[in-house]
Amino acid sequence: MTMWRIGSTVIHKVLEADLAVRPTAALRTDDTALLKRYPWPAPDFSRADGTFVLSVHGLVVDTGARRILVDTCVGNARPSVPMLQMLNTTWLDDLTALGYPPESIDTVVCTHLHFDHIGWNTRLVDGKWVPTFPRARHLVTRAEWNHWADEAGAGLRDTMQPLIDEGLVDLVETDHRVAGGVRLEAAPGHTPGQVAVVVESGEERAVITGDLVHHPVQFIEPDVPSLADTDATLAAATRRAFVERYADTGTLVIGTHFPAPTAGFLRRGGDGGVRFVVDGRR
Ligand SMILES: [Zn+2]
Repeated sequence: MTMWRIGSTVIHKVLEADLAVRPTAALRTDDTALLKRYPWPAPDFSRADGTFVLSVHGLVVDTGARRILVDTCVGNARPSVPMLQMLNTTWLDDLTALGYPPESIDTVVCTHLHFDHIGWNTRLVDGKWVPTFPRARHLVTRAEWNHWADEAGAGLRDTMQPLIDEGLVDLVETDHRVAGGVRLEAAPGHTPGQVAVVVESGEERAVITGDLVHHPVQFIEPDVPSLADTDATLAAATRRAFVERYADTGTLVIGTHFPAPTAGFLRRGGDGGVRFVVDGRR
């Protein structure tokens, strides 16, 4: 499993699934040459056959004092989209094997409320959905909750309602400070209340994107929407602001749906154009 050190904080990627998809499965574009126009630093981000890999993973942010899990993937036994129907993965065992049994997680951050980010919030035990992380506060932004709660379908009923019933959910603002060195940052557009997660320790910084991008090409062509963006114009503005904020700052950008190597740096070339490079912390 992949891990990164940001000062004294450790971030682990816990993989649920790597899915080879056509660009149109994640991006709203009919530009078939889009991915081919850019020489990616790792072949993993774009394949010669025109597909790319969409990774579904959770990220543990371990500050030493706190054990924060950012996003909980699809989960097992969930009737979601066909590609991910009724998964039966070892994700929870893998998390435990890394040294993070569910009871040891003190905070779950839901970057947004799409099914592939909140699935393991609960698990099916004797026919009933129960909280997977019984000792964790589950952070959801108020804007995000307000948007989806009205239309709470079976998904939210199974993944969020059991947490609400147990009093495990905190509705927070989009600039919420989660812990020392960990804070939320508004990233609206993919969904109204989506957040990125900023991790800082010593002189080092990382940012977990949430779904403000599904492929690194969107840093370079921010107007290319993700398929599920609720507000494509706002999402594009969020991507532009993100690049402005983090390019050439040495900030490690960890993509919530990027396959291995998953993280990299935004760099401006001599022509002012942006690149996403895997190596080269300044
Ligand atoms: Zn997603």
